[in-house]
Amino acid sequence: MKAGLLIVRHDNLKVYSPGRLFRFAIVNLEKEGGYPANFVCMLPIHISPAEKPSNFAQIFGDESLRLAKRLLTGAFKKERDSEIKAEIERRLELLEPQPVKQIACSGCGNLFHPRRVRRYGKNFCGECLKKRFAGRE
Ligand SMILES: [Zn+2]
Repeated sequence: MKAGLLIVRHDNLKVYSPGRLFRFAIVNLEKEGGYPANFVCMLPIHISPAEKPSNFAQIFGDESLRLAKRLLTGAFKKERDSEIKAEIERRLELLEPQPVKQIACSGCGNLFHPRRVRRYGKNFCGECLKKRFAGRE
């Protein structure tokens, strides 16, 4: 099988929920007939969640992660739609192992995953940052 990635955009969805606006379909490029005849499985956001391996992970096994990254990176280079590019980027980020380290917000004290830790400054969670910026307007 020669796996390819097909990104299908869904417009006019009544309820917007991230990840549902686009379908990331894995297709077999060696099979004729085009989509959806060559559909293999969906590219999941999380390749191998602890609870239940995705169809994708079951089909591609140890190659799953590498294949997912290669397809997403390739699609990113070709894609012109900025929203799809952002979604590809988001998915690529989610494929990277997440640092488990959480730190306490300097504002509200809640634990959160910082994008970047300021060693000697204050770190604010997303909510507090929003409030701070909203207050300045
Ligand atoms: Zn906070």
